[in-house]
Amino acid sequence: MANIYQQMESEELDAAIEELEREAADLKAQNLALDMARGKPSPEQTALARPMLDVLNSSTPLVDGNAIVDNYGTPEGLPSARRLASEILGVDAENVVVNGSSSLNLMHDLVTHGFTNGVAGNKPFYQQGEVKWLCPAPGYDRHFSVTAHLGIKNVPIPMLEDGPDMDMVQRLVEGDPSVKGIWCVPKYANPTGITYSDEVVRRFAQLQPAAPDFRIYWDNAYCVHAFGEKDDNLLNIFDALEEAGNTDLVYEFGSTAKVTFPSSGIAFVAASKADITEIRKAFAVERVSSEKFSQLAHVLFLKDLDGVKAHMRKHAAIVGPRFALVEQKLTDGLGQTGVATWTHPHGGYFVSFDGPKGSARKTVALMAELGVKLTPAGATWPYGDDPNDSNIRIAPTYPSLEDLGKALDVFVVAVKLVSARLARESRA
Ligand code: PMP
Repeated sequence: MANIYQQMESEELDAAIEELEREAADLKAQNLALDMARGKPSPEQTALARPMLDVLNSSTPLVDGNAIVDNYGTPEGLPSARRLASEILGVDAENVVVNGSSSLNLMHDLVTHGFTNGVAGNKPFYQQGEVKWLCPAPGYDRHFSVTAHLGIKNVPIPMLEDGPDMDMVQRLVEGDPSVKGIWCVPKYANPTGITYSDEVVRRFAQLQPAAPDFRIYWDNAYCVHAFGEKDDNLLNIFDALEEAGNTDLVYEFGSTAKVTFPSSGIAFVAASKADITEIRKAFAVERVSSEKFSQLAHVLFLKDLDGVKAHMRKHAAIVGPRFALVEQKLTDGLGQTGVATWTHPHGGYFVSFDGPKGSARKTVALMAELGVKLTPAGATWPYGDDPNDSNIRIAPTYPSLEDLGKALDVFVVAVKLVSARLARESRA
């Protein structure tokens, strides 16, 4: 559909801008203070896991299989927690390490390990000259920060409807030995909400990297986070690897940050036999042990994959209506304007929104003026550089439904006003 502002006669466009400026001024006068910036669960969601705080007390047996909970040991994680993590990821418990409360920490640890000590007996990255990392974009800003922080060169890869542009991924991974990794969020991706197709997963599994120390960072952060009737199906990457006769290629991550409590969940990594052996050795230098009370509490509370799924249905009842509201407000407000497109995810924490070229920074700045905080424009690209300056990440989970509705009303006005002004500028 064509951009209605570009189609208007100049006088009509001036009148539309004036009207939108009046609406914006009215909104500003309301002194709103709303936040749609980060993918955080709402207080109602974290309250769902409060009963977990009651499952441990001074008479709880502090043993787990042959592991002791109240002392050092078992750095790979309690057996029951590894079992739970393995069920969540669909992998063998032997190939899982549960450690810490943040999967991003584990990813950071492993990139750093590659940098300082090397992967699979290869030279550390710091001794290999320029090192590159592939960054499907729009993507998760904190992934990009981990590699950028070490001076690794982040290379943007276009995100298509069913995953990253695999022709480009394959060309770079198989042709350039300085490419050492790729960031992937294969299910309900941050921020597009898409799930990689079977073909994309298979192409990842079939890669023949030029670098023996290349690994796919498969961050399955949202694997149990459907919020509607339909749950996308993601092909299991380790099954695809087996089918392709490939091994030692993938580190898969997950956590319960958005199942129980962000910052107090349990985090885990799975990998091939050889890779997980190396990971355990690397972690052993950093950690004598792991947060076993938290692991035990998670297992007593969630029990198994069925328990996780039942708990996630409670989240879905809270999150689903928020995403439905985003869809409704954007469709009602912008559906007939031809200025924007957005994603329609079945799970995860985000909607990815694209306005006209050159609009994102202006829209985010105007939203701040009108009292609504958004993720900084460009954050979804490596180095904050969205080449079209069009993408905005909408995070609808944290605000109440009422606040979210208000924030989206402001957003619609801001997008229209910025789009109309851009249409006028393009005529000047
Ligand atoms: N991966 C992705 C894709 C995320 O969106 C987030 C949280 N926003 C994380 C990891 C962080 O997870 P954790 O709290 O386990 O570090």
